[in-house]
Amino acid sequence: MINVEQVTVTYGDLTAVADVSFVVPPGFVLAVSGPSGAGKSSLLWAIAGAVPVAKGQVEIDGLVITDRPAAAAHGVVLIPQGNGLARVLTARENLSVPLLADHKPLDELDRAVEEALTQVGLADSGDHLVEELSGGEQQRVAVARGIAQQGRVILADESTSELDSSNRERVLELLRVEADRGAAVIIATHDPTVADSADGHALMDEGRLSWVRRL
Ligand code: ADP
Ligand code: MG
Repeated sequence: MINVEQVTVTYGDLTAVADVSFVVPPGFVLAVSGPSGAGKSSLLWAIAGAVPVAKGQVEIDGLVITDRPAAAAHGVVLIPQGNGLARVLTARENLSVPLLADHKPLDELDRAVEEALTQVGLADSGDHLVEELSGGEQQRVAVARGIAQQGRVILADESTSELDSSNRERVLELLRVEADRGAAVIIATHDPTVADSADGHALMDEGRLSWVRRL
């Protein structure tokens, strides 16, 4: 359960997220849309513990989020805008890093990595360096890395922006599977078809959140 309570995020004088509150229960997918600069990424970063909140708080299953390491250890997975992959590592290595950090046994780790790469259609690309892959393939690797972690919260920041329609459908289905196994999922998106596929749709504008369709 993601519980965002009157959260404000500021960068100096700039307010990126202004007094935003909502809840995403396990099993649900929320889409957040809005123009560039509206505060979507900042909202996801706050939920991931990657930026401090100036006011309010984020609670995940009862834990107040204060920093990124604690949030990650609590199962808050961020699939960042721009992928956040290490370009000089292979796709497989990129998927392995968070699982190694989580002390997953190696046989389980290998299985989780191969399964996630297969799910995004990149089973044969595991040994490619990220910098050898196309933008869309990199985006799918980032999604695979996210789902391989089996998080209790998945925050997908424009994770379908570079995909053709069949891969977009595939990624949306994978995020739906994550929700069905009990994750709370938020997708930031510019794409109306992505927003329509979610259980609820919120709109951000100048840091404020309003509802197009409530969860
Ligand atoms: P969106 O994801 O909707 O495009 P962002 O959360 O990236 O919005 O940005 C919201 C506002 O915060 C924008 O005005 C952006 O320029 C600003 N901003 C984002 N990140 C930073 C940062 N690290 N430092 C200062 N300003 C930032
Ligand atoms: Mg953004």
